[in-house]
Amino acid sequence: MDFNTKLLHGKTVKDYPYNATIPAISQVTAFQYESAEEQEKVFHHKAAGYAYSRVGNPTVAAFEQRINELEGGNAAIACSSGMSAITLALLNMLCAGDEIIAGSGLYGGSIDLFEDLTKFGITTRYVRHMTVEEIEPLINEHTRVIYGEVIGNPGLDVMDIKAVSELAHSYGLPLITDATTATPYLVNPLKLGANVVVHSSSKYINGGGNSISGVIIDGAAFKWDFDKFKALDGYRKFGPLAYTVRLRTDIWENLGSCLSPFNAFMNTVGLDTLGLRMERICSNADKLAHALEKMPGISDVNYLTLDGNPYKELVDKQFGGKGGGILTFRAGSKERAFKLLDSLKYVTRASNIGDVRTLAIHPASTLYIRSTTEQREAAGVYDDTIRISVGIEDADDLIGDFSDAISKSDCWL
Ligand SMILES: *Cc1c(COP(=O)(O)O)cnc(C)c1O
Repeated sequence: MDFNTKLLHGKTVKDYPYNATIPAISQVTAFQYESAEEQEKVFHHKAAGYAYSRVGNPTVAAFEQRINELEGGNAAIACSSGMSAITLALLNMLCAGDEIIAGSGLYGGSIDLFEDLTKFGITTRYVRHMTVEEIEPLINEHTRVIYGEVIGNPGLDVMDIKAVSELAHSYGLPLITDATTATPYLVNPLKLGANVVVHSSSKYINGGGNSISGVIIDGAAFKWDFDKFKALDGYRKFGPLAYTVRLRTDIWENLGSCLSPFNAFMNTVGLDTLGLRMERICSNADKLAHALEKMPGISDVNYLTLDGNPYKELVDKQFGGKGGGILTFRAGSKERAFKLLDSLKYVTRASNIGDVRTLAIHPASTLYIRSTTEQREAAGVYDDTIRISVGIEDADDLIGDFSDAISKSDCWL
């Protein structure tokens, strides 16, 4: 089965109650049992069933199974947000004293989170680029995980997943990737050697901009050294499944970051069209980026399929030549960037990505207000940077909207 067929007819799309074609919304807190004996079995995982929606819910499970199949994982665990997915993916395997190595071009919220984690004794060392050359010198006896975004948002640095995972494994470390901006349409990181994938499914997976959620997918191929990864000690008997088992029955369950059944339902509906949307989004973004490059008054158009993009070869190899939905450019000054944004007719000013609508934002004054200038610039965010999350409108209307807005902001100067 190819991508779009698998979305609709994969082996995890099946047997919904009453022969429904999509899973119903089990908007319920608890599940009742005929007998205390039966309930005991469910609590001891000796019988299939649900007990309490923080710990398991059929609508949430249906979403988890579909995204797991799509990523080629062993198990997926849905969370209340992308940030909770990232937090739990790391806390599940880290203890105080452990170190993370991460790319400095991360999503701003992740950088803020890593700062929060320092209070718990977990420190992060940053590399400017997620390359073997930059990562290797930072590995020491405290390093426990390499963490990076497949496509950095909004700097658009691309990680060579295969090369970085080989490096990580040669030091007995797992690679965790945030694949939000790439989506399973561009790449399955687990198949290239990543060990755990996280998504903010609030973005492309949901697609309609209607629910906050996240998901963690474990490939269960990493051989945990339980003397080194103390957080997973106690789960030794599960071997490579230790990460999933601890997450499901301990960290995720106890930290209470469950996804609501309604949001899980919206994500499942969204997944049906992920392939179609991404095909259109990638094509629109490619057309818009090429058109923006020719427009006077703006500079530094950054998109992965443009000639001269340093990642072009990797984009061809890893993403089949597709560039995803994010692009950025510089408008000359903050004032001009604001004027340009205010002149857009169709493009929506909103701080999200992966919506069917094209969205634009000035990251320096919004998403990065907690970062230093140095941190911002490492993430590709300058005072005049505009980030666009390309949607599924007609490409010519989008190009026209930007060209009108750019000429208006010129007049204003
Ligand atoms: C949005 C985003 C997040 C955070 O996800 P939420 O669902 O907003 O919590 C994490 N990583 C990336 C790359 C994102 O774009």
